[in-house]
Amino acid sequence: MSKFWSPIVSTLKPYVAGEQPRIPDLVKLNTNENPYGPSPRAIAAIREEAGDRLRLYPDPASLKLRQAIARLHGISVDEVFVGNGSDEVLAHAFQGLLKHDLPLLHPDITYSFYPVYCGLFGIEAVEVPLDDNFRIRLSDYDRPAGAIIIANPNAPTGIALTRAEVEALVVAHRDIPVVIDEAYIDFGGESAIPLTRMYDNLLVIHTLSKSRSLAGMRVGFAIGQRNLIEALERVKDSFNSYPIDRLAEVAATAAIDDVEWFDETRRKVMASRERVTGALGQRGFEVLPSLANFVFARHPDFAGADLAAGLRERAVLVRHFAKPRIADFLRISIGTDAECDRLIEAIDAVIGIR
Ligand SMILES: *Cc1c(COP(=O)(O)O)cnc(C)c1O
Repeated sequence: MSKFWSPIVSTLKPYVAGEQPRIPDLVKLNTNENPYGPSPRAIAAIREEAGDRLRLYPDPASLKLRQAIARLHGISVDEVFVGNGSDEVLAHAFQGLLKHDLPLLHPDITYSFYPVYCGLFGIEAVEVPLDDNFRIRLSDYDRPAGAIIIANPNAPTGIALTRAEVEALVVAHRDIPVVIDEAYIDFGGESAIPLTRMYDNLLVIHTLSKSRSLAGMRVGFAIGQRNLIEALERVKDSFNSYPIDRLAEVAATAAIDDVEWFDETRRKVMASRERVTGALGQRGFEVLPSLANFVFARHPDFAGADLAAGLRERAVLVRHFAKPRIADFLRISIGTDAECDRLIEAIDAVIGIR
């Protein structure tokens, strides 16, 4: 606290990111990073761009990147908004689309940045509980609301709604904005992007951090009709005209265009996810059905905090949330097969299997 702070600052409860520690030989499965690295074409594009041109500001409209995204999804370039990570895109959506007289609805267990943005932007929110199987029950959203945001697949559960379910939600709430955060959609879920053509209240947000392995570059995007995209543009141009730097734009464009690399690496992640799910199940874990690049699992005989601590002693880092209902779960990112093997070995040591 300092007397120099604006009053709101002392009320903020900032997001706590997963740690990025320096432990030798660490198996880092705590922040849902992609184990396979970005497209080699993205790296080559960064090398090419890293030179005298960095004197110059980047394109404030990031047109080349938006064109690549529009091509990929078969939409028009003015239906694409890009930002400095999807966290920034989300921030603009919270400020520009989700603050109304009636409350914003989001699941009680979801991406923990949502309540942080509500605090920052003074948005009243109602947390709608997941059901006993940690699923979103659409009928629970039939209540007075100014807007809805849902992560699909949800985080940290990994459980996905089908496209038909997302459509039902959008149709049931045609008068308010519905934002679907598809950070993990490329690992087996059905994207709602095709629905944006039909529904002017649907905004879909993606990131290049997970399925395109560019967490370090900070690029995310939103797709929706002009009425929604224009709100994001107005907020962005009142905040930072250049959220995408030159290196990020060329890297992200190359990564979007390299569909082969994308498909190969996400398939490997999905195959490893099934392997890890099976191995955990054999050891008595309950593993929620994940369509993300992580699994959310608990063991009936061990507390989540103890498991996480035991794994950490063996240089395997997973994410544990000390929160009601999910305190016994571990969120485990899917690594390479070698990393998954180290995870399972460490789990066997912690739970006492030889
Ligand atoms: C990782 C994640 C994001 C943020 O991604 P960035 O593009 O790296 O900011 C957004 N939403 C969810 C649900 C995530 O898990």
